[in-house]
Amino acid sequence: MAKIIDGKAISAKIRQEIKIETEKLIREKRITPGLAVIIVGEDPASKVYVRNKRLACEGAGMYSVVHELPETTEEETLLRLIDKLNSDKKIHGILVQLPLPPHIDEGRVIESISPEKDVDAFHPVNVGKITLGSYDFLPCTPAGVMTLLEESGIEIGGRDCVVIGRSNIVGKPQALLLLEKNGTVTICHSKTKKLAEITRRADILVVAVGRPDFVNGEMVKEGAVVIDVGINRKADGKLTGDVDFASVEPKASYITPVPGGVGPMTITMLLKNTLTAATKYAEMTCR
Ligand code: NDP
Repeated sequence: MAKIIDGKAISAKIRQEIKIETEKLIREKRITPGLAVIIVGEDPASKVYVRNKRLACEGAGMYSVVHELPETTEEETLLRLIDKLNSDKKIHGILVQLPLPPHIDEGRVIESISPEKDVDAFHPVNVGKITLGSYDFLPCTPAGVMTLLEESGIEIGGRDCVVIGRSNIVGKPQALLLLEKNGTVTICHSKTKKLAEITRRADILVVAVGRPDFVNGEMVKEGAVVIDVGINRKADGKLTGDVDFASVEPKASYITPVPGGVGPMTITMLLKNTLTAATKYAEMTCR
């Protein structure tokens, strides 16, 4: 039977540490970390994520502001708002909730965020820094996965790591971070042949596909660490991951549940990045 990696508990512990650091920054430098979240349109899932981010910020003692813009917002209007937030001294982190409506160029919007305030770490400058292994922020979900592995005492160096998924926000940066910790990394995607043969070699398997129960027990090596990034909503409204927990759990040594695994860590890493941005701002202005 696998050990369950409790993302909720690990997340709660780290949020407490972030809260203490935030209080220290406010006390010693009189700077309250501030996060601005922009949401365009009415997507219900995005609205829930944004609400959770605001509540988490407030819980950590940070300042947070949410800009809710209508679906019909023009790209120029959004860019002007980001420009204003880029020079707002109370704001240290800016996050644009994705996806954006199709008439808005996502790349252009991300590039308009000041890299120092890019707490999602999606800006090409930050992506480049991560590739070079010298960075200020890490993208929240892969950073959350790395923290779960670390907090669970799981060794990465020299082990076979397989990542299924190659998106810019999860799969690709996840592979880079595992590589940085000396994992031997394979990235799989929709064109990968003989997927199960590759996944069965994995000591650490990270699944970020977006398909319920995509990975089953047949695809997993005995004793593997299985990290399920997927969030899928079933017909009954309940959340489920990309891993068939029932068949994989008996074979794995460690496994993350959905919900309660990677999910809570994503927002925790956002708080961490916001604190980092505010701390860097304090260092620059309080010299
Ligand atoms: P994307 O849709 O951007 O990427 C999915 C990836 O899965 C693609 O690289 C795709 O390959 C690959 N894929 C699709 N089908 C197959 C297949 N049959 N075999 C192998 N690979 C396949 O999704 P995201 O990376 O944004 O998200 C992945 C999942 O993680 C989703 O469920 C999402 O909801 C969840 N998520 C969870 C977060 C959290 O906080 N826990 C945060 C972000 C995402 P190709 O590139 O070839 O198309």
